[in-house]
Amino acid sequence: MLREYEKLARECARDGVDHSRYLLRLIELELIDRERRTVERRIRAARFPAVKSFDTFDFTAIPGLNKMLVLELARCEYILRRENIIALGNSGTGKTHVALALGLAACQKGFTVAFTTAAALVNQLMEARDEKRLLKMQRDLAAVKLLIVDELGYVPLSPTGAELLFETFSQRYERGSTIVTSNLPFEDWTQVLGSERLTGALLDRLTHHVSILAMNGDSYRLKQSARRRAAGAEQNQATPVVDPDTGEITAT
Ligand code: ADP
Ligand code: MG
Repeated sequence: MLREYEKLARECARDGVDHSRYLLRLIELELIDRERRTVERRIRAARFPAVKSFDTFDFTAIPGLNKMLVLELARCEYILRRENIIALGNSGTGKTHVALALGLAACQKGFTVAFTTAAALVNQLMEARDEKRLLKMQRDLAAVKLLIVDELGYVPLSPTGAELLFETFSQRYERGSTIVTSNLPFEDWTQVLGSERLTGALLDRLTHHVSILAMNGDSYRLKQSARRRAAGAEQNQATPVVDPDTGEITAT
């Protein structure tokens, strides 16, 4: 308000706007600025590894993904209903991108968000347990409106790690929303969590109210680099090209 009041006063005097209207406009400006700063604070607090949105997501690259469902989820009503999202698919199909974009949308809609990977989360939980601050960490995790756990499946978890992850999901059950991404189909989650009983109980909670995003397809990374190499090959004859479908390397 301090920054804007003189300039706005001049404008209002010029346009014949009275005092109460002037005050209203000044306060509106302040509110807009506060909202913008709050969103920025939420984005910083979420600890996204990168800020990505649906503006840069090419839905045609992954025809198996239900675009209408994703855009509906971007409206964040599932967070009010405390529902979950699971994105499943092989590497490079945009799971993390979609999770980040949903996280960003949630920040913009006013929800608190935390982004982490399964491996990092489990490490932090074990560290917290060793340092006798597990309860505090669990309370903090249970309090965020949207918890995003990326990359469940790349690293098998220790029995303690799996149990701590289970507790996290369990404590959020019907209290907050969780997004999980995984390269593994549900039937292989036992490989990561170790015990069949624990996997069953975890899936039971996670999938009770859930939207599942099936994201199997060609790796976007591989396709991009193949395209780049193909473009380079036009200038430089002997550049190898990776076929995104077979992974075969050919020289054009
Ligand atoms: P995953 O998490 O499924 O392994 P990522 O989300 O990390 O895949 O995607 C790999 C890279 O490709 C990222 O830089 C991501 O932004 C990009 N990417 C993937 N799919 C798309 C898409 N459909 N449109 C735009 N960029 C994409
Ligand atoms: Mg990923």
